[in-house]
Amino acid sequence: MTRPARTRPFVVEVGAVRRRPGSRLAVQRAAELDGLRVVDAAVPAGAEVTVDVEAQGVPDGVVVTGTIGARWEGACRRCLRPVEGLVAARVTEVFDPHPVEGETYPLEGDQIDLEPLARQTVLLELPLAPLCRPDCPGLCPRCGVDRNEVDCGCDLTVRDERWAALDELRFDS
Ligand SMILES: [Zn+2]
Ligand SMILES: [Zn+2]
Repeated sequence: MTRPARTRPFVVEVGAVRRRPGSRLAVQRAAELDGLRVVDAAVPAGAEVTVDVEAQGVPDGVVVTGTIGARWEGACRRCLRPVEGLVAARVTEVFDPHPVEGETYPLEGDQIDLEPLARQTVLLELPLAPLCRPDCPGLCPRCGVDRNEVDCGCDLTVRDERWAALDELRFDS
């Protein structure tokens, strides 16, 4: 009837809470989800996405409230050193027998699948510009050394070639 739990690890039976609005069901799941990657950060292979939520029956569906968690690894945007961190995002979403694109998730019979919610939440929370520390000085744009380790002393005075051209102008007196 349903596919094995291994391939749909975040499917939850919610028939009991659905038939008794106000009743609640605690749900804790953890599984690997592939493809959770943005430019400079990703949930690494072998790391599980955790879903720790409560499903509550409401007259027209099921409301899911709780936390989505995952570990991520990436590279500092400025110096390329490895960085890692945790996603821990609070969610409140409605699962609806007549889902509205972009607003509610589908409630199919007595089942909800928390995987799309987990995926979207993690993707939104992955840092687009991870930093090893907030004031990372990054690689020297002139000589390429990691300025976390070496003060290369390069002159990084910004010199705009358009202004340099003006310097060359000579006016007749
Ligand atoms: Zn850095
Ligand atoms: Zn330098």
